Amino acid sequence: MSATSPIELVFSTPGRGPRQSAVFLDRDGLINRKIAGGYVTRWSEFSFMPGLERALLSLASSKRPVVIVSNQACVEKGLLDEKALAAITVRFVSELSRTGIRIDGAYYCPHVPSARCGCRKPRPGMLLRAAATWNIELATSVLVGDSMADVETAMATGCKAILFQPDRGEETGPADLVVAQTMDEVARRLDEHFSSMESRV
Ligand SMILES: [Mg+2]
Ligand SMILES: [Zn+2]
Repeated sequence: MSATSPIELVFSTPGRGPRQSAVFLDRDGLINRKIAGGYVTRWSEFSFMPGLERALLSLASSKRPVVIVSNQACVEKGLLDEKALAAITVRFVSELSRTGIRIDGAYYCPHVPSARCGCRKPRPGMLLRAAATWNIELATSVLVGDSMADVETAMATGCKAILFQPDRGEETGPADLVVAQTMDEVARRLDEHFSSMESRV
């Protein structure tokens, strides 16, 4: 495993059209429930976040790539190997596709923080790699995630960030921070973003 590149899993054929906007999705805490202090290392530990389909269903009708970007230091820590991570991914992507949700690709940083790789969020490596594969225009794309590292990753690449935090209180953050506390709000914010992008053209 290279110390610099993310794991790349591609589930549909990247088109050859002009540059396009994309939706980047964090995994733990957005797609599936987080495991406090631990990692999802087997399918039995993977449980979908409630209401997820409400947030993601409308994305399937556009041609925009929908791409997972997730830090999984558990790989380099030896808690699960790349093959097992890929198997879990194939499984949740196919379960989602049965409910009409399309995931086009998944990128994982397998490195521990001390490896100082270029792909562990908040660094931009996974988004840059995805952008190369899918011909993505980062400036018109969005990243949805549940931690400030996701927001920082978006800021580092010029993407828009949507911070999904169901339990968020009255914390302060950057003035332009977009926070969604429900899956419906994630859907509404995504809608808003892409309709404002289209009206600009
Ligand atoms: Mg997360
Ligand atoms: Zn990495």
